[in-house]
Amino acid sequence: MAGQALSVAIVGGGIGGLTLALALRERGIEARVYERSSELREIGAAVALSANGSRVLERLGLGAELAACSAVPTELVYRHWRGGRRLVAYPIGAAYEERFAGPYYGIHRADLQRILAGACGNVQLGRQLTGLASAGSGYRLEFADGSAETADVVVGADGVHSTVRGWVAEVPPARYSGTSGFRGLVPVEQLPSLPDPGAIQFWMGPGGHLLHYPIGDGSVVNFLAVLDEPAAWASDSWTEEITPHQAEAAFDGWHPAVREMVAATTLHQRWALFGAQPLNRWHRGGVVLLGDAAHAMLPHHGQGANQTIEDAVTLAECLARQTLLSALDRYEKLRRGRTRAVQRSSWVASGLLHLPDGPAAEARDRALERIGGTLEWIHSHDALAVSSAPASPPRAATR
Ligand code: FAD
Repeated sequence: MAGQALSVAIVGGGIGGLTLALALRERGIEARVYERSSELREIGAAVALSANGSRVLERLGLGAELAACSAVPTELVYRHWRGGRRLVAYPIGAAYEERFAGPYYGIHRADLQRILAGACGNVQLGRQLTGLASAGSGYRLEFADGSAETADVVVGADGVHSTVRGWVAEVPPARYSGTSGFRGLVPVEQLPSLPDPGAIQFWMGPGGHLLHYPIGDGSVVNFLAVLDEPAAWASDSWTEEITPHQAEAAFDGWHPAVREMVAATTLHQRWALFGAQPLNRWHRGGVVLLGDAAHAMLPHHGQGANQTIEDAVTLAECLARQTLLSALDRYEKLRRGRTRAVQRSSWVASGLLHLPDGPAAEARDRALERIGGTLEWIHSHDALAVSSAPASPPRAATR
């Protein structure tokens, strides 16, 4: 069916929204990105890009810029919380890149967003979506500044607290994991006890774990510390302030490298870690969800951003090949099962990382010898190859 080119509005200029805009542009579909923040930056947070995400970004032409801003971890290492013994190690570096046809990168989130935004062009900052309504065959978007726009397709890439999601689906309450996390960026020179600062390392102990990896030029590590907080999350907010003393006390008795890292952070805020429950649908008419808005997950496989990147290239490919509603159906079909499997696996990992010393922890450590199998199904997935396999005769999306 020949028709008018689609007008696409993307709500949210995070990793998913920006990747989608770029992937659509590559396929000849221009999209406008509406981002509520007045500037694209995130202080004190990094992201690990695994091959299933980095491969997509490299194909979008961002390889050289990403490489210039990223650290390539040497190994994935699991360690004992107190003595620091290496329990399991899996090579990353060049061997990983060869195996998975894409690099493993540690990158500052602000660098990733800057690279994506620079490449995709039409990002309108300070545009917070407040309302959405049907308008003719498309939609009317209303913004906090009183302005309005129209579009044929609206993509809710507006994150874990999505505004668009309520328009698309019934939203079940998020499930509290019984854990909370805090994070930080720490110069390696402040970590004299840290073995292998170039590796991704999990320190696993009773009631908690700490994960860190190098970012940028490797002189800084990003860490995420997670602790059991079995009581229901009391605060109305998903975050709350913690004192430096609380953070340090939680890791009392752990290896000096862990204590140095926790003591050095300047971010004194912890997040309740919630897992999203499956939505009854991902699109309603021409309004569709992507990334955390559709499937927020626990961070234990480092996959939230990578799954979002997979979503983005899949949605772009579907829109470029099929009529609108078939494209959105196919996108949902391709992504729902995959993201659900990663969500579930991250949830299971949460409990395993916090076992006290004893037979259960020893069984876990033996099972970790097969970590390559987990990486295999998650990191080797090629979202572009899957979505570009013809489902029906190719034709560009039209209204
Ligand atoms: P976001 O990146 O959250 O972007 C949403 C955007 O929408 C934001 O810019 C927001 O300002 C904007 N927005 C929201 N509402 C509106 C509105 N009404 N109007 C306009 N704009 C709006 N993932 C990994 O893959 N690897 C990791 O190592 C990793 N580490 C993590 C560590 C922690 C502590 C946490 C909390 C998460 C981590 N993640 C990681 C997950 C990852 O950050 C997210 O899954 C990813 O950012 C989701 O991308 P997104 O585009 O869906 O949402």
